[in-house]
Amino acid sequence: MKTSNSTFEEIGKILSSAGKVLIFPHVNADGDAIGSSAALCRVLRKMGKDAFILIEDDIAGNLKFLDDGLTTFDMDALDADVSVCVDCGETGRFPKRADKFMEAPVTVCIDHHGTSKGFCTYNHIDPGAAATAQLIFRLIKAMGVEIDKQIGEAIFAGILTDTGSFRYSNTQKETHLIAAELYDSGIDAATVAQEIFETMRMERLRIESRAIETMATLHGGKAVLAYVTQKMLEETGASMDETEGVVGQLRSIAGVELAVFMKEYGPEEIKVSLRSKKYVDVAEMSSHFGGGGHERAAGFTLRCSMSEAFDRVKEYVMNMAEMK
Ligand code: 5GP
Ligand code: MN
Repeated sequence: MKTSNSTFEEIGKILSSAGKVLIFPHVNADGDAIGSSAALCRVLRKMGKDAFILIEDDIAGNLKFLDDGLTTFDMDALDADVSVCVDCGETGRFPKRADKFMEAPVTVCIDHHGTSKGFCTYNHIDPGAAATAQLIFRLIKAMGVEIDKQIGEAIFAGILTDTGSFRYSNTQKETHLIAAELYDSGIDAATVAQEIFETMRMERLRIESRAIETMATLHGGKAVLAYVTQKMLEETGASMDETEGVVGQLRSIAGVELAVFMKEYGPEEIKVSLRSKKYVDVAEMSSHFGGGGHERAAGFTLRCSMSEAFDRVKEYVMNMAEMK
């Protein structure tokens, strides 16, 4: 059962009365997780608070421009009065930091995943929002803090990545209205877009083409499955975060409704990314495998070998009623 949402005014008050705040984005943080965290962290510091974003893995190269002394790997950076998790709604999304998160006397969750239940003292989960960054924008407004250029660019980065540059079906009128308002804080939208989408290394293009070569098609091309292994990363010199765009490319193929991309993080750790175009509910498919997400973008992790994972997912897709 979902707990009811706290208002941004309530959450704003909790944050305003805190002295030390730790922010927790999910593992393999995407632009929305990092953008939302960076915006909130900057706001809290502006208010004179001790605030850090606690991370457990490296930030993707194309998102590093959002971090300027905001993130730390140090579990002892501070003992927070309030822990805030953003763009995720369960401790399993930040496993190595879960205990640290729960140590704080007050916990807050700000998220837009419909599969999140609300496990914190205060929760604001809005699956209708295209990006968590939109919720952070609303929260900052409720707190009455002025959005400066850097805060604005962090929010814009979150919106841009989660909406596929305003292309995906989650994009709303409000998404555009918020983006428009961010221009008033002096954001350089083109530079943010270039940092995120046009600063690729050659290694990224190489791993993308290798991964796309593994593609198998099902249901006459309506579903496609592809994968990347550690060996492929070694051979191309690419890092796993550089495969992030592959699942979107698979979905962009004409006639494809469902794209599945499987990433071998370790011998028994396969992270699966799902995307759909029009009608397959991938959040439901993810939940079946113990993960979560949105209707058109979701994911889960399987603790088995790549070949076993591939067979299990393929079997599931073969039997999906909506693909027949
Ligand atoms: P991605 O495929 O880009 O990693 O994730 C797509 C969406 O699904 C994101 O919104 C992400 O937060 C969510 N997601 C990915 N993996 C998991 C998972 O293991 N559990 C949950 N609850 N959500 C996930
Ligand atoms: Mn998001």
